[in-house]
Amino acid sequence: MSPAQKKTAPPSDREHPKITVYSDWCKRCGICVAFCPKEVLAMDENRRVFAKHPENCIACHMCELRCPDFAINVEEVKK
Ligand code: SF4
Ligand code: SF4
Repeated sequence: MSPAQKKTAPPSDREHPKITVYSDWCKRCGICVAFCPKEVLAMDENRRVFAKHPENCIACHMCELRCPDFAINVEEVKK
C-alpha cells in the first residue's frame, strides 16, 4: 500500500469517548458535572445531564466513579 492509500485520520477527526447517561437511573444530583475535570458535562433547564463538550472528554471515568447510581457510562473508542 502506498502512503497515499493509508487511512490515518488526522487528530481532529478522531472520535471522542462515547458518554451515555441512563435517564431512568439518574437522579439529577449533578455530582458528575461537578467532578468532571474537563467540564464536558452540563445540565439542561430540567437538570438532565448531557455532554456539552464531548470532544474534551479524556475518559478519566471520574463521572462514573462518582455517580452514586451507576447512571453514566463512558466508553473509550478503540483506535
Ligand atoms: S470520563 Fe472524565 S472527562 Fe469524560 S465526562 Fe467523565 S469525568 Fe469528564
Ligand atoms: S452523578 Fe449520576 S445520578 Fe447524579 S446527575 Fe450525574 S449521572 Fe445523574
